[in-house]
Amino acid sequence: MHQPLTLIASDEKLPESVDVVVIGGGVAGISAAYALAKKGTTVAVVEKGYISAEQSSRNWGWCRQQNRDIRELPLAQRSLEIWGRMAEEIGADVGFRRTGLIYVTDKQSDIDQWEAWGKAAQPYQMQTRMLTAAEAHEMTPGAVGNWLGGLHSPTDGRAEPSLAVPMLAEAARRLGASIHQQCAARGLELTGGRVSGVVTEKGVIRTQAVLCAGGSWAGMFCGHHGVKLPQAGVYSTSFTSVPTTEVISGGLSTPKFTLRRRLDGGYSFGLSGRGRVELSPQSLIHALTFWPTFKKRRGGLTFKIGKSFLEGPGALASWKNDQISPFERIRVVDPAADPKLVEEGLSGMTALYPALGRLKVAHSWGGLIDSTPDGIPVISGVQSIPGYYIAAGFSGHGFGVGPAAGQLAADLIRGDTPIVDPHPYRYSRMIDGTNLGAPGMM
Ligand SMILES: Cc1cc2nc3c(=O)[nH]c(=O)nc-3n(C[C@H](O)[C@H](O)[C@H](O)COP(=O)(O)OP(=O)(O)OC[C@H]3O[C@@H](n4cnc5c(N)ncnc54)[C@H](O)[C@@H]3O)c2cc1C
Repeated sequence: MHQPLTLIASDEKLPESVDVVVIGGGVAGISAAYALAKKGTTVAVVEKGYISAEQSSRNWGWCRQQNRDIRELPLAQRSLEIWGRMAEEIGADVGFRRTGLIYVTDKQSDIDQWEAWGKAAQPYQMQTRMLTAAEAHEMTPGAVGNWLGGLHSPTDGRAEPSLAVPMLAEAARRLGASIHQQCAARGLELTGGRVSGVVTEKGVIRTQAVLCAGGSWAGMFCGHHGVKLPQAGVYSTSFTSVPTTEVISGGLSTPKFTLRRRLDGGYSFGLSGRGRVELSPQSLIHALTFWPTFKKRRGGLTFKIGKSFLEGPGALASWKNDQISPFERIRVVDPAADPKLVEEGLSGMTALYPALGRLKVAHSWGGLIDSTPDGIPVISGVQSIPGYYIAAGFSGHGFGVGPAAGQLAADLIRGDTPIVDPHPYRYSRMIDGTNLGAPGMM
């Protein structure tokens, strides 16, 4: 794998039966497993590759409310509370620091957009404020930029993607959850139309409830059971520098790239809005549904036909539960970074902070970001299959909201009072067409 990641041990023996099986060991699945285990619900996580090896370790590590789709704000706010107490609760540093996040820009269109977002976010009593040009410069000492203004959220923060989910998975294990890596779920077993088990490559686990938290692969797993979950994928590039002088303690978003201070004293970089769409059968089937999103973002995207047409989450696939499934053929989606984007980010950083000189790259990697048509996740039961739940489609913002998303999934499965109103995240919108508009802020 190209990105840094802390590997953890697996439980070798599959349980015969548990209350809940979670498919997928990313932030959504592991947060749900932790929340379930904390309440004494028996849970097994099956992961086709390694815990957190796909999106959840490849992200920038931003945990933010600022500039977030308004429909996700309650989830983001509850998540920040969970992030804030996580280290103490699980006895391990997940790298969460409430360092605040700063956005600066030299474009009037960004300022207009942030102002509009600020008005829409007012009912949520957000601690964010617009920065004047002078304040934007003051808050980014040493940076060379013609800022017209900015946006600052002092209570947002950052966590360490290489650590957070593995540490939470270990905590779930200590509470009794079992974690099975290299163990793909091939399909559900149904009795009288409702969930009665999960067929994995290592055997069957009997259960009354299954949470599909399969990230980019969730649509394919759902499709195997006739459950329609449109997903589109964008390949994105990130990289880290070796440790260097601190110029910003949290995250800084500029029009060209983002940087985030890391626990190891380096920075994580991302290229805002830039990425590659690999055309696949699924992307063609859902092209019309995703058109508003692509229209909004197409300036930063390149399109190509690649291997994804024949394999991976966007391919057409059918299999039987006693056969090797597509999930076993690709254990980890591990694309390489685009060297041109790494170079753009590096030279952008040298121009922004000339005093740092040209930074040395420590790691660079690619990641496949999964999205729903309206840019917010599905966290919901599926009415047509009692006992089947989904937590997927986090559309590029799932690391920050993951802890509350997992808690919400656990609440729905257990029938507890949900941590936030689940209505915006209902599955039914994927089939009845309600709310399938373009995403809000990304
Ligand atoms: C470059 C990049 C930058 C990002 N930056 C940010 C950021 O700064 N802040 C933020 O909030 N979000 C960010 N994101 C988004 C965030 O990382 C994702 O939204 C989030 O990690 C999704 O979590 P997940 O658990 O849904 O999926 P994943 O982390 O992808 O996990 C899904 C898991 O399910 C497993 N799986 C799939 N199918 C099966 C099966 N059948 N059987 C067993 N296992 C299966 C997969 O192997 C995978 O490990 C970024 C993403 C990328 C790629």
